[in-house]
Amino acid sequence: MSVKQVEMVLAPREPHYVGDGFRVHNFIPSGYGLTMQRMDPFIMLDYGAKFYFPPSPSKAKGVGVHPHRGFETVTVAYKGSVAHHDSGGGGGVIAEGDVQWMTAASGVLHKEYHSEEFSKTGGDFQMVQLWVNLPAKDKMSTPKYQAITNAQIPKILVANNGGEVEVIAGNYEGNPGAATTFSPVHMLNAKLKNGGEASFSFPPHYNTGLLVIEGSVIVNGTEDVPLDHFALFTNTGDSFTVKASEDSIVLILSGEPLREPIAAHGPFVMNTRAEIMQAFEDYENGKFGELAD
Ligand code: MN
Repeated sequence: MSVKQVEMVLAPREPHYVGDGFRVHNFIPSGYGLTMQRMDPFIMLDYGAKFYFPPSPSKAKGVGVHPHRGFETVTVAYKGSVAHHDSGGGGGVIAEGDVQWMTAASGVLHKEYHSEEFSKTGGDFQMVQLWVNLPAKDKMSTPKYQAITNAQIPKILVANNGGEVEVIAGNYEGNPGAATTFSPVHMLNAKLKNGGEASFSFPPHYNTGLLVIEGSVIVNGTEDVPLDHFALFTNTGDSFTVKASEDSIVLILSGEPLREPIAAHGPFVMNTRAEIMQAFEDYENGKFGELAD
């Protein structure tokens, strides 16, 4: 075992809106060196830091019908709730603590809005949306949808009453996560009490990072990672520790790089330009199914 070091700590970029309901800070791929290749297979990370939305009872805020092909969208809800529908018949409400893992694969249309209940009351809203790339051989597989409630996510206790680690995907200390994935991906929510400390171990070549959702933490005893910041790890060493400086929530990502060509345009992520052109053609010809606004 050797220490996996922090390569850099990234502050959130200025936020932008996706539709009118998702105020997000993009970490991947729009800046600071966190390209799609650098965090492969995590090719997009939009973080909606905690933000108060006033009530909007007459019209839910969000983003309307749009397509995806070639990857998976993963939404982790920390505050507030999202109503989701897709052209494959998948859908439902993602509430606090829940995770939606949608495999767009060969193509879906979907739409995402603040839930009716949240729109009535307003309140704090906080989400992560990730795009996890699919191996070339799976990009045109059948779309599917994993609605994972918080109760379904295994929770592993941290030593000394330090909190717990939720295993969304992959595994933690040999305990498998709730979601199934197409390539080795670990996605963990460490919910640590003030002073709680957990260790994590991933193969050196896995691309690895963490995002501080609540509180603040110290990595490897030396690196302060403040609220809403992302720490990128080196591709050397295999283990690191996270200690909470206050009650904290940390999203931990580690995945085996696919190391395949990436051709990305808007909502489509394929391996070649020709496949992107095909995606636009298929979309225009209605091959992504139907979904009403
Ligand atoms: Mn989408």
